[in-house]
Amino acid sequence: MKIDDERKDRLKKMLNKMKEQIIQEDREEMKKFQTGEKRQIVEAVMDDADLSAIDISEDISLKQLSTHRDILKKIEEALRKLEEGTYGICEMCGDEISEQRLKILPFAIYCRDCQEKIEISEKFEGEEG
Ligand SMILES: [Zn+2]
Repeated sequence: MKIDDERKDRLKKMLNKMKEQIIQEDREEMKKFQTGEKRQIVEAVMDDADLSAIDISEDISLKQLSTHRDILKKIEEALRKLEEGTYGICEMCGDEISEQRLKILPFAIYCRDCQEKIEISEKFEGEEG
């Protein structure tokens, strides 16, 4: 299925906007850590270093930076998929995922119908076990 250019363009703008917002927030957040011992931790977080040694759960801001880093990766992945023409396409049935849904769940890989089917089957499996 070919994703039409208009849709592609809109989705691209949406993803880029998200990316900019996150980067902007991170910049604000990092200003707080320009100096001091926390700076090293921030750099480690942004560097994708091994975080197991650092208990970032103590610091909400650092946790947020780490979460943002993961989201940025997902956005990059989504943009790549968009170029390939596979972003916003349900992995189960191959239908287009509605833009409304993608605005709320930018990294959704299933359309609403398939997602519901999955959730129902997961629920059943859980109840059986
Ligand atoms: Zn589907």
